[in-house]
Amino acid sequence: MTIALHGMGVSRGVAIGNVHIIERDQLEIVEYQLDEVSVKAEVKRLQDAVTQAKQQLRAIRDHIPDSTSVDIAAFIDTHLLMMDDAALTHEPFRLIKENRCNAEWALKLQRDALVTAFEEMDDPYLRTRRDDVGHVVDRIQRILLKHAPLPHEVPDNRLNGYIVLADDLTPADTVLMQHQGIVAFITEYGGPTSHTAILARSLGIPAVISLHNALQYIEEDDLIVIDGTRGTVLVAPDKRSLTFYRQQQQEDINYYSGLSRLIDAPAQTKDGVTIELMANIELPRDFDTVREVGADGVGLYRTEFLYMNRETPPDEEEHYETYLKVLDKLNGLPLTIRTLDLGADKQVDGGRQTGPVQSNPALGLRAVRLCLKEPSLFRPQLRAIFRASAHGTIRLMVPMLSNVQEMQQVLQIIDSIKMELDEAKIKYNKDMPIGGMIEVPAAAICADIFAQHLDFLSIGTNDLIQYTIAIDRVNDEVNYLYDPLHPAVLRLIKMTLQAGEKANIPVAMCGEMAGEAQFAALLLGMGLRQFSVHPANLLELKKIICETDTSKLRGFTKRALSASSGVDIAALLEKHNRKFH
Ligand code: PEP
Ligand code: MG
Repeated sequence: MTIALHGMGVSRGVAIGNVHIIERDQLEIVEYQLDEVSVKAEVKRLQDAVTQAKQQLRAIRDHIPDSTSVDIAAFIDTHLLMMDDAALTHEPFRLIKENRCNAEWALKLQRDALVTAFEEMDDPYLRTRRDDVGHVVDRIQRILLKHAPLPHEVPDNRLNGYIVLADDLTPADTVLMQHQGIVAFITEYGGPTSHTAILARSLGIPAVISLHNALQYIEEDDLIVIDGTRGTVLVAPDKRSLTFYRQQQQEDINYYSGLSRLIDAPAQTKDGVTIELMANIELPRDFDTVREVGADGVGLYRTEFLYMNRETPPDEEEHYETYLKVLDKLNGLPLTIRTLDLGADKQVDGGRQTGPVQSNPALGLRAVRLCLKEPSLFRPQLRAIFRASAHGTIRLMVPMLSNVQEMQQVLQIIDSIKMELDEAKIKYNKDMPIGGMIEVPAAAICADIFAQHLDFLSIGTNDLIQYTIAIDRVNDEVNYLYDPLHPAVLRLIKMTLQAGEKANIPVAMCGEMAGEAQFAALLLGMGLRQFSVHPANLLELKKIICETDTSKLRGFTKRALSASSGVDIAALLEKHNRKFH
């Protein structure tokens, strides 16, 4: 029987495939082959992991309060003894040497063999020992995985063609899985402007999030259809539904290839206003797409993806080389590099952080705050951006400014870097434009002050909406409050646009709102002339721009800006869009 489930479609398109479920905390044990010379090191890796696992268990045993029943200590002792047992830990060494496989896989093979043996025993007590084997192996595997080669370095195509279902996914996980060939994903939680959702759009993989209880209805390997535009998931689709969605896939392909006729057309309104249409990029695969869709340049290069799924941050040289590569791909188009915006839902290692737990990470140490606290992260990137500026048109953009002191601190660091480069006779563009993102209500309200010191502003609506309406962008329980048309959001956008106009500096918008075609008329009416959007959205937006006459937007915009709720504004906008597009 076909089951239809509804969530939030955050990355459009239809995907049809079998499901692979990733459960939180479930270890993904992958097999990979070692070359001859690595076998010795792999044996040592396993020895170290077993030693560390024993230390962990002894520490736990030593901290058991005296008042606790003696059974618990005995239970831990059993696990410690198992770690010395040849059957469990010696056999995997042989497997590593003989099969030239990784330690995690050797342990898995041996665990499976032991579990089967225990299950065949008649004694019920002995049968339960298989759980102990599982626990011991799990502990060692967790230690191993922490020190394992980075997952994306391990050739693995098990996920090829699969739709992944998880309770939640981090951006880092999403990138890895995309490398492994997934065609779509579903999560039980998450928000529409979470970085994971943004990444899905950027990767062009359909995604449905906030599909509560999906794990109750969907099983491993089920055939499903996901419609990322409408947020629908069909489990065990019947023949008719499959035919319908296959047709839909084809229609999507036709529609988007039809838009390609606009690639070389100027982004100009009917009344001749030229709009700058830039692209947002983050992953190396995006570098090419900027030119493929005919963007005027890059309005937002999210550099934090350079830091993900690795143990050490990139150094100055790596930044520099990467920026030169991007410039090369852009072939003369301008590039806006945003400095590091780590923190909150963008963690380098997928959120497995050490250090004190932040109870409100979105309000915590992220973006420019983190950079100012950790100059060793910030300075190499800034130096690399300046060095790269000698080789192409680069603008530098700072995220999440919340007060003028932060901006001044950044400008001081920039001055000191310029001095260093001058002393070392290293070339750079002395007039490289320095801009700031307006993402915090405080910055939007004071945009006039920021505009006096900066060369350009860019409105990051994802964060601006989050902070204005006080809704965590990754929390699905408050998704219903997410509203780009909230009058407060529109007023802050308007204030920022006016501040730019007054100071005679450009103001762009690079949040997701800029790329949603249904908002284009309103944003154009409000005076926005620079959009930076996902390459996947750019041509559709261009189509709307070319169909719009800005001289006829005045009355509509005025009515929208004086409406008292997002719902009223949405209704006005819908009516307008129906009439003109
Ligand atoms: C934004 O907040 O709108 C933005 C573009 O930055 P990010 O989504 O990377 O936080
Ligand atoms: Mg932001």
